Amino acid sequence: MSNTDFSICEDCLGGQTRLTRSFNGAECKICTLPFTVYHFKANSKVNRTLICHNCSKQRNVCQCCMLDLQWHIPVELRDRILSTVQGSQVATQEAQNEMMKRFIALKNGDTYKVGGASVTSDSVATADAVESIRKTVGRLQKSQENRDSAKARVTPASVSTADVSHLTKKLPLKGTLSSAQSFFIYNLDPSIPEWAIVDAVSELVGTVAWQDPTSTSVTINHMARCGGIRFKSVEIAEKFRLGLQSFVTPAKTTKGKLQVQNSKLHIVAWPQYHRAALGIKNAECSKLAQILDKQVQSDLATADVAKSAPKPAKIRKSSKASESKKSKRTKRIMDIEL
Ligand SMILES: [Zn+2]
Ligand SMILES: [Zn+2]
Repeated sequence: MSNTDFSICEDCLGGQTRLTRSFNGAECKICTLPFTVYHFKANSKVNRTLICHNCSKQRNVCQCCMLDLQWHIPVELRDRILSTVQGSQVATQEAQNEMMKRFIALKNGDTYKVGGASVTSDSVATADAVESIRKTVGRLQKSQENRDSAKARVTPASVSTADVSHLTKKLPLKGTLSSAQSFFIYNLDPSIPEWAIVDAVSELVGTVAWQDPTSTSVTINHMARCGGIRFKSVEIAEKFRLGLQSFVTPAKTTKGKLQVQNSKLHIVAWPQYHRAALGIKNAECSKLAQILDKQVQSDLATADVAKSAPKPAKIRKSSKASESKKSKRTKRIMDIEL
């Protein structure tokens, strides 16, 4: 497809070589300028380009499905992966007003790239990025192994005798889901990575910019199976609180729940957000995890019915959750198309 004036991925094209062209056939869903639309029949349905060729080149995305042309994944995911491996924020931010849209539309997509497009539109940079991803995954695997062996080194005796009262008095163990700028999270499955929590919070509050860039907004202690998050403003924190599912414990305390992957985090306000209270030494982290496990059991004491639900129902539930996540993803893309 080198001599064409469109960029359509193989999946969308489905091997079709006959395309109908209409000049200025529609407005680009991104820059709103009229552009040459291509119609074609592929995979037994009529497909058409939704964004102009220049916008597609600036973002290195397919003009139909708007997925990255190199990796065939949504741009947010592409940018997030690249942010992780490059250690700096990579983001495809769309213009919020007409003037900015026009301004960006004037830039030549052959040279002007947005977000991770500068990487995936360049074969050398892509190869470098893939190498970094490989290294990052290797490093994560290693640190997981180290964590596992550290966990194994903690003897039950040292855990049971560990004194964590200096930690628990700083934690909101009797807390409720009241208004606050920071929150305590527990019932955290150690397999859930920090980024998944960050993503779930971003999705809930509708922005990735909820963290305070001047201080640590997220602290997760996988070994103690808990963590804390702090929002940069009371407004976003309130949006988060109201967006959570809430439940009432047998002790008549209202707490929040947040589904992250296959696990439901329990959340209460933590106005005195104190990172060090999450524990440092292995034994105290393990002891804290034990205490929090008991807390979770008492939170869920009336939810025994749900707990003893047959396994197939559970699986159905989790696939439903991932389905709704998928539809949310698709919807996000649809929003741009509207
Ligand atoms: Zn455009
Ligand atoms: Zn496509």
